Amino acid sequence: AAKTAGKDRVVRFEPDLRTAAARHRELASGLRRALAAGEFELHYQPVVRLLDERVTAVEALLRWPPGGVPPLTFIPVAEAIGMIVPLGWWVLRQACTDARAWFERDGVAVTVNVSGHQLREEDFAERVLAVLDETGLPPAALVLELTESVLVDDAERTARLGLLRERGVRIAVDDFGTGYSSLAYLVHLPVDILKIDRTFTASGVDSTLMKVILQLAEGLSLHTVAEGVETAAQAQALKALGCQYAQGYLYSRPVPAAQLSF
Ligand code: C2E
Ligand code: MG
Ligand code: MG
Ligand code: MG
Repeated sequence: AAKTAGKDRVVRFEPDLRTAAARHRELASGLRRALAAGEFELHYQPVVRLLDERVTAVEALLRWPPGGVPPLTFIPVAEAIGMIVPLGWWVLRQACTDARAWFERDGVAVTVNVSGHQLREEDFAERVLAVLDETGLPPAALVLELTESVLVDDAERTARLGLLRERGVRIAVDDFGTGYSSLAYLVHLPVDILKIDRTFTASGVDSTLMKVILQLAEGLSLHTVAEGVETAAQAQALKALGCQYAQGYLYSRPVPAAQLSF
């Protein structure tokens, strides 16, 4: 019986493994070509202030090919082949270029996702400031989003964000609540905003966990954005609990820049 089971395993698992590896190679070579070919696009999703439902920021979200592979599929591949660094610079430059008019006209900021790999560059902060300079976007109009694990893992990398904050760039913890069990680290992090992961919004905005996160943020003077807000009831409850900002399909899906209206 054991021998039969062993055979079954080989038959069942081998094709899957081969498919995954082939898929990875396919994505990797596609990604390598895509940057030079100009195939990447940014979509933007509004972040809304719950008090008056005004759009205060938009999050830049990478699309490739537009309407094609989900970022959660291709970004890990881009990280594995080292492409996330040049790609990340492309995203930042494009987002800052697009956002300048929105900020000047409507005071709308732009928030950009940053991979931990990007922060490994020693001159990361200086290069971000150079992009702001070249694109003419004021530092106060830029928010960088990093996940908890990146912020906590490496004090040296996190320290690189200090210079940016001194200049007025804000830092947000993305997907907050999914990464670490200990909250003590939060007190020391150079951050301004908590983006509360959408799993907490989905599992009930009046849950104890959501309340605790919002109280914690208030105690640390951090602004809060609830992710994945899909219903008016969720927005209402979040507002009542003191959450300041919300983002989600209730307000808008991520859309091309040309389709944004504030
Ligand atoms: P994220 O930064 O947490 O972005 C929010 C994700 O939630 C987006 O998925 C967005 O489309 C989705 N979303 C927004 N509102 C709702 C909602 O109401 N319901 C549901 N179910 N989902 C909602 P997307 O665009 O597929 O991006 C996935 C992740 O890929 C992002 O999560 C981020 O971690 C990563 N990503 C996207 N663009 C970039 C980028 O330029 N650089 C890096 N390093 N990562 C990126
Ligand atoms: Mg994000
Ligand atoms: Mg997020
Ligand atoms: Mg998320």
